[in-house]
Amino acid sequence: MNYAFQVKKLTTLITFYTTNSSFHVKQLLENPTSEFKQSAYKLFHEIFKHNVPVDSQQTSPVDAIFDSVTASLDLINQSEVALVETTQKWWNEWYFVLTMEHSLSHEKEDAPYSFLSKKMHHPMKRHEMSHYAHLFTILPMPISNVCAKTGDIIRVNQRFIDVFGYTVDDLPNLEQWWVNAYPDPHYRESVKKTWQSALEIGNETGQDIPAHDYHVTCKNGNTITMEVSGINLGDEYIAVFNDATKRLEDQNILRDMAFLDSLTQIANRRRFDEKLSKEFEKAVECGDDLAIILIDIDHFKLFNDRYGHVEGDLCLYNVAQAIACTVSRTEDFVARYGGEEFVVLLPQTDKQGALFIAEHIQKAIEELHIPHEDSFTGYLTLSMGIHAINKEDSCDQKEFIKAADSALYYSKRQGRNCLALS
Ligand code: GH3
Ligand code: MG
Ligand code: MG
Repeated sequence: MNYAFQVKKLTTLITFYTTNSSFHVKQLLENPTSEFKQSAYKLFHEIFKHNVPVDSQQTSPVDAIFDSVTASLDLINQSEVALVETTQKWWNEWYFVLTMEHSLSHEKEDAPYSFLSKKMHHPMKRHEMSHYAHLFTILPMPISNVCAKTGDIIRVNQRFIDVFGYTVDDLPNLEQWWVNAYPDPHYRESVKKTWQSALEIGNETGQDIPAHDYHVTCKNGNTITMEVSGINLGDEYIAVFNDATKRLEDQNILRDMAFLDSLTQIANRRRFDEKLSKEFEKAVECGDDLAIILIDIDHFKLFNDRYGHVEGDLCLYNVAQAIACTVSRTEDFVARYGGEEFVVLLPQTDKQGALFIAEHIQKAIEELHIPHEDSFTGYLTLSMGIHAINKEDSCDQKEFIKAADSALYYSKRQGRNCLALS
C-alpha cells in the first residue's frame, strides 16, 4: 500500500515542531497533555478513521509510515530522532487499540465495551486505554474478559492461549468453556455451582470474585489445577487464573511432614491411627483379613543408658528402616507407634502370613548386628505381638489393638526376643 499522503501529513507535523524554536522537544515528550501529543493523535485519527484494520494479525502500517517519514526527514539531531520515535510508539499503541476495537465490534455487535468503547474519542482517554490493552496483553497469568450478562468471552490474553491452548474462537462463551475445560459432567456441575456462588458473593459485596481451585482441562487433554478468582467490573468481569500446582505440592509436603516421624523417617502415630481406622472399616465391610504386628525393642532403656541417647536415636532409625524394608507390599503399612515401639498393619493377611512377616523382621534386625551388651544375646533384639481378624471375628478397633498388645506382653514375659500370636 502507498502511504505517501499519510507520510506527507506526518512529516509536516513533525517538521513544524522540530523547526519551530518556541518548542522544546524534551518538554513536548514529557508533558502528557502537550499540544504536540494532541496534534499527533488528531492526525492519527484523521488518517485511520477511514482506514480501519481488517484483523489484528495484519502487519501494522504504522511502522511502514514511519520508515518513510524517517527517510524523508533526514533527521539531524537526537531530539528530532526522539520526537519521531516517541510518536511512532504512540501511534503503535493507538493502532493496537483501534485494531482490538475493530475486531470486537465485528465479532460481537452487542458486546458492552466498558474499556474499549467506541464513545471514547478523547485522545488522552484513548491513550490511557491503550495502556490497559497493553497490560491485558502482557500480564504473566492467564486472564479472560467475560460479559456478565451474556456469558460471552470477549477476549483472552496471550498467556491464556499459551497455558490452556484455547483461543476465543474455541471458547466464544462460558457454556463452551464449561464443556471444554471440565469434560466430566459431574465435576462440571460442581465447578459451575462453586463459580456461581463465588460470582454471587462478588456481586453482593461489590468486591472481587473469591478464589477457588479448579481442575482445568487444556486443549491438549492435560489437566492443570488453577486458582481462579475474578475482578468485578459491573457488566463484565475479568477471570484471573493462578497456577495452584506449586501451592498444592507444598501443602502435600507439609501434610507428609505432619504425618512423618522426623527421627525414623517412617509414618508417625497420627498417620497410623488414621490408616488403622480406614483399613479396619474396609476389612469389616468387605469381610477381609487384617493383621497387625506390634513391635517393641528389648531393654532399650539399658541400651540408652550404656551407649547414650544419640546412639539410641541412630539405633531407632536403623531398626525402623529395616522393618520398613522388610514389609514390601504397597498396601502394607509401617509406623512408629511410640518411643521404641513400631507397628505393622497388613491388609488381607491372616495370622500365618503375619507370622511369616514377623519372622522376616526378626531376621532383618539380627542381620543388623547392633551390639547390646545388656541384652541376653549380646545384640539388639525385638519382641512382637501378632493379631489378625477375619470375617468370622466381631471385635472392634480397640479390641483389635488390645489383642496385639496382649500378645506383645506375653512375648516379653517369655523372655523377650520372641513372637507371640493371640
Ligand atoms: P522392655 O524390654 O521391657 O521393652 O524394656 P525397655 O527398656 O525397652 O522398655 P522401657 O519402656 O522401660 O524403656 C523404653 C526406653 O526407650 C526408654 C526411653 O529412654 C527409650 N526411648 C523412647 N523414645 C526414645 C527416643 O526417641 N530416643 C531414644 N534414644 N530413646 C528413646
Ligand atoms: Mg516399650
Ligand atoms: Mg522396650
